[in-house]
Amino acid sequence: GDLPSRIQAKEFYAKYEPREILGKGVSSTVRRCFEKKSGKEYAVKIIDISGEKGETYQVEQTKKDTYREINILRMCAGHDHIIELHDWFETPTFIFLVFELCKRGELFDYLTEVVSLSEKRTRIIMRQLLEAVLFVHDKNIVHRDLKPENILLDDNLNVKVSDFGFATVVNKDEELTELCGTPGYLAPEVLAVSMYDNAPGYGKEVDMWACGVIMFTLLCGSPPFWHRKQMLMLRAIMQANYSFGSPEWDDISETPKDLISKLLIVEPKKRLTVKECLAHPFFVRELGPEKKFY
Ligand code: ADP
Ligand code: MG
Repeated sequence: GDLPSRIQAKEFYAKYEPREILGKGVSSTVRRCFEKKSGKEYAVKIIDISGEKGETYQVEQTKKDTYREINILRMCAGHDHIIELHDWFETPTFIFLVFELCKRGELFDYLTEVVSLSEKRTRIIMRQLLEAVLFVHDKNIVHRDLKPENILLDDNLNVKVSDFGFATVVNKDEELTELCGTPGYLAPEVLAVSMYDNAPGYGKEVDMWACGVIMFTLLCGSPPFWHRKQMLMLRAIMQANYSFGSPEWDDISETPKDLISKLLIVEPKKRLTVKECLAHPFFVRELGPEKKFY
């Protein structure tokens, strides 16, 4: 897209006052900040684009990736459950992305605090997440890094999907081949790309797999695929080798297990789409005398 060049070093600091660190990534730091004029709070993601001497390729790549992130955030603007990009700035060394502030932080931290979520709470969170994914997929965008660290919560514990750093547009019949995402949430077909020369690419279905991993983790408090030895974890993912065998699952009803089992399927074409997911009985709550889900 045509992004205006806004190379003004002092512009950000003239408008905003940065405060404490909220989170840190590989090449970015997120801080709470105040907009001086309005007194409103935001979160600013400060991306370091200054490389060492001779790293011009790296610098250009980081810039390009950030422009892609900005473009995708703009394409996805206006949804209740997608983080809002309020403003952005570019200087020779940093790019500043100013987002709406999610005061309750990551779903990951919320989960750590409460250990696991009730079916009712899981339904609310998953429905909001899937509504955001529906919106994104309808625009032919794949997020590629859905996980509880990238799902933020506002004051009212509403979901805001964030971190579109790996998101990309995937046109019809096009297949993606990059290995990106986070190990425990990677779909089998993404791993296959890095393992086999003749593997087909992948598409939107990878986000549905991640939704399955997230939903499993929310309900029982631990992820479906985990092993101290990463090779063994990756092998488990390739075979969708997980189980509802731990005692945490004893008191959880069949409906959510059924939904998870239709997402954690190796074959991407057999996995539920986001629309099919939202039409699953877990979300379509019928309140009859003998049809109670909770
Ligand atoms: P990265 O690409 O480095 O993972 P993220 O966009 O995921 O960057 O941000 C890193 C972390 O910063 C998040 O996991 C979260 O803890 C915090 N964070 C990011 N955006 C916000 C926001 N809008 N409100 C509150 N915290 C945020
Ligand atoms: Mg992140």
